[in-house]
Amino acid sequence: MSTTSIQIPFLQSDGLSRADRHITLAVRKKQDIAVMIVHVRDVERLCASVGHARAGAALDDFYTQLRAMARENDTIERLGDRKFAVLLNGLRNRGHIGLAAQKIQRLAQDTLSNHAECPGLDTTIGISLCPRQGEEGPELMRLAEIAVLDGRRRNESVCFFEERSAHRLFADWGLEKRFDNALQAGDLQLYYQPKLRLGSNEIVGAEALMRWYEAELGPVSPEVFISLAEETGKIADLTQFAIQNACRQLADWRELAPDLNIAVNVTPSTIQSHDVVDALQSATTIWDVPANRLTLEVTENALMENREVSHQVLTRIRELGARTSIDDFGTGYSSLAYLKEVPADELKIDRRFVMGMLDDAGDYKIVEHAIRIAKSFGLSVVAEGVENQATLGELQKLCCDYAQGFFIHEPVSATDFETFYEQRRR
Ligand code: C2E
Ligand code: CA
Ligand code: CA
Repeated sequence: MSTTSIQIPFLQSDGLSRADRHITLAVRKKQDIAVMIVHVRDVERLCASVGHARAGAALDDFYTQLRAMARENDTIERLGDRKFAVLLNGLRNRGHIGLAAQKIQRLAQDTLSNHAECPGLDTTIGISLCPRQGEEGPELMRLAEIAVLDGRRRNESVCFFEERSAHRLFADWGLEKRFDNALQAGDLQLYYQPKLRLGSNEIVGAEALMRWYEAELGPVSPEVFISLAEETGKIADLTQFAIQNACRQLADWRELAPDLNIAVNVTPSTIQSHDVVDALQSATTIWDVPANRLTLEVTENALMENREVSHQVLTRIRELGARTSIDDFGTGYSSLAYLKEVPADELKIDRRFVMGMLDDAGDYKIVEHAIRIAKSFGLSVVAEGVENQATLGELQKLCCDYAQGFFIHEPVSATDFETFYEQRRR
C-alpha cells in the first residue's frame, strides 16, 4: 500500500452528527452498542453497468430496506452516497453482531442485484464496540472506519476493529514516521482547557492537552498518537515535550497569570520511571518556574500497576513541589484503602460520571461520594466533563472544589486561552 494513496476519511454530514448524538445518549443510559459502518463496494462498476441514475436509485432502495429491516432500538443513518451507519443497541455478543452484519450484507447483495445485472456487488462492514472500545461518537465512528479499511485490505467483508490491525494500517500510512518527524520538529501543540474554582468562580488552572495536526492527514486524535508513542518507545520524549512546553508557557504567562497552574498528563508507563522527575526538574529550572505551578495527572489504574515504583516517583514529584492528581477517578479498580497511602493532592472525577449525573441516579451517587471521599482524605476534587449550567450548579451544591468541561470552555490554543483568561478577569 503506498503511503500517499490513502487519506484518512474525513467527512461531515447530518447523518454523522445524528449518529454521534445517538451514541452519546446510549452511553448515558449505559447501553451496549455495536457501531457499524457499511460501505458499498464497487459503486463505480454499478454506475458503469446501469448508469448513474439507476445506480443512485439502487443505493436509495438499499437505504430504505435497511431502515425497514432495523429493530425498533437500532439507528440507521446515511453518511454519504455509498456509506451508512448502523447502530445496534443492546448486542454484546460478537457472534450476534456478526450475524446482524451478515444479514445486512445479504440485503445489500439482494437489493443491488435486483436493480442491476451486476454480479459481485458487495459491502465491507467495519464494527466498533461501545463501551469496550470507546464511549464517544466520533471516536467509535473513527474506529469503525478503520475496521472498514482493515476489512478491505484483508479482503474480509465483516471486520471488527482491533488495535493491532489499526497499528499495521497506521504503519502503512507512514504514521509512525510522520509522528517522529512532528515530535522532532516540535510540530505538536499544547491546547489548554481552563479549570474553574467553584468557590470563587475564578480560573485557577488549565489542563494541557496535546494536539497534532498532520499536513496531509489532518487532525490525528491524541488517543491514536499517544498509544503510537507508547508502542514505538517515544512516550518519554512526548512527556518531556509536554512538560517543557507547559513550563515555557507558564514563563510566557508570568505577567498575565502569575498564579495559574498547568496540569500535564502522564501515561502509566511514564510514571514507572524516574525520568519524569528529571524532566520536571530540568524544565522548571530552564524556564525558572516554581514547581508548584505544575500538576501531573496520572490515571487511577496507572498507580495500581506497580505501586511501589509509581509511589516513589509521585513522592519525588511532590518533593520537588509539584502537585499530583489522580485522573479518570471511578473508572479504575482501586480500593478505598489505597487512597490512604497514595501520594496525591487531587482527585479528578471521570467525565463519564459527571456528564450523566443529572440523568442517572447512579452517576449522581458516584460523583457525590467521590467528592466526599476526596475531602475525607484531604484531597482537592475536580469534576471534569461539565457540559451545562445545571451540572455546574449541582457540583457547587455538593461542595466540589473545581470544575472543567465544555460548558466552562473547550481546550483552546495558548493564544485563545489568553483572550479567554483576560476577558474573565475583567
Ligand atoms: P483526559 O486526560 O481525560 O482529558 C480530558 C479529555 O476530555 C480531553 O480530550 C478533553 O478535550 C475532553 N473534554 C474536556 N471537557 C469535556 C466535556 O465537557 N465533555 C466531553 N465529552 N469531553 C470533554 P482529548 O484532548 O481528546 O484527550 C484525550 C486523552 O488523551 C486525555 O484524556 C489524555 O488521557 C490523553 N492526552 C491528551 N494530551 C496528552 C498529553 O500531552 N500527554 C499524555 N500522556 N496524554 C495526553
Ligand atoms: Ca487528564
Ligand atoms: Ca480525565
